[in-house]
Amino acid sequence: MCTWHVLKDVLERLKSSNAEKIEGRSTHGWSTFSENLELNFIDVTWLGEYRQMRIDIAHRRIEEAESSQRALPGDERLDSKECTVLNKKSIPEIERLMREHLGWHPFKFPSRMSPMQPTSGELTSRHVWLRQSTEMHDLCRKFNEGYAWEYLWTNWYKWNKWRLWARAAALDYYPIIQTNAPVETHWGYVKNRILRWAPRPRIDRLCFDIMNTCLPLIAIRIHQIRNGIKDSSWHRNMVTDWNNLEKRIRKQDDEDREKGEKDRISLESNNHPATLRSKRMRNLHKTDIQLWSCQCLGYFYSAYHICTHLIRLYGAPCPLKRECVRQYRRPLLHIHGLHDPSLKAGPYQMTEQVERVRNVSQEEIEMSQEHLDILNDVEVGRRREDYSRTAEKGREWEKLMKEYENAFAYVRQEINQGGERLERLPTPSAKTFKTVMKLAKNANALDNGRRRRTTWGPERAGGNMYRN
Ligand SMILES: [Zn+2]
Repeated sequence: MCTWHVLKDVLERLKSSNAEKIEGRSTHGWSTFSENLELNFIDVTWLGEYRQMRIDIAHRRIEEAESSQRALPGDERLDSKECTVLNKKSIPEIERLMREHLGWHPFKFPSRMSPMQPTSGELTSRHVWLRQSTEMHDLCRKFNEGYAWEYLWTNWYKWNKWRLWARAAALDYYPIIQTNAPVETHWGYVKNRILRWAPRPRIDRLCFDIMNTCLPLIAIRIHQIRNGIKDSSWHRNMVTDWNNLEKRIRKQDDEDREKGEKDRISLESNNHPATLRSKRMRNLHKTDIQLWSCQCLGYFYSAYHICTHLIRLYGAPCPLKRECVRQYRRPLLHIHGLHDPSLKAGPYQMTEQVERVRNVSQEEIEMSQEHLDILNDVEVGRRREDYSRTAEKGREWEKLMKEYENAFAYVRQEINQGGERLERLPTPSAKTFKTVMKLAKNANALDNGRRRRTTWGPERAGGNMYRN
């Protein structure tokens, strides 16, 4: 799921002033947690106290209103709706932590969230989940926001919910694109193109249109990108980001130099700002150009896996189209000439763990399998006449030559016939040959248009005076 959607939903709820009921909240689920080995990090007593506190606050409000003889509007009564978060200062903190949890992956994480070492065995997404839930729980507890934690747990941090949005749900696979973006494009296309003139079609017609108009187009596009006929658009955006970062590097260098000159620190000294910067790069961010990783926030949030540190170390202009590729494993950005070609990732081999997570229900798999088959059909169909760019050019030449040949044949025919048909040809010159080509293309149509005929003539019955 994309960051934007997750945060939008969470923020909406945290900022809302009428989403919570304070009475009649179901509590029996929490009481089992203290027995559970994994879930005993959840402080159930704290949650109970928090609930009581909110009820007390509401009671006090009602009492105050009664003592001052003020009538309470409907939404200030006890059974009414309440705000989720009391201390609004906690909202940005919760948002920040959730954003970091969302993007955390063994291949990419900020330095303040160091890699985890499980107590036994290898790291699994269950470990990551436990740690992230504990962290979020502790943060909510620190701000004493019980309702916020209850909401986050039920809707986001439960194991089966967490797997849907956290990147660490698959530890050996780093997503290359946001799956959300193609889904939105797909529905945008359906809404704005297919349903444009028939906004409320019957479901069978909609399915027909999707299968026959929409999916083949997508399949062709994927095929073109995979075979290098067309380029995907991410490289252009990466160049923009890269150039901006280079600008920032130049600015940083200027600042470092100015500061050094102002404080009269020599370039070789250990306290020179530039030296300190490179030390930070080594010790704090652990920038590694071979693994193409850095633990700074810029790299963590970059969609193209670049940051000032990596660009500094790379020390060359932005790699050209097709010389770099984003991939699901390290290095996340594979650059031709810098990284070993063997590091280039092939097709993804699903591990057992991921497979188990994905095997949700039989129906679902059958449906997606059907769609995959459609994709393959179209690709196989296209592959038979698969043209690369050069082949396409050759084909265009062939087509043009064929037109010339037809024109030659046409002129020869007209000369052999002589008489009226020869006179109809334009004066012979290179310029007028274009006209001849047009004539050759539409020879039959022109014949019909140029001669005045009687309404009952034989040519009207489908015959042609000159051609058989
Ligand atoms: Zn960095």
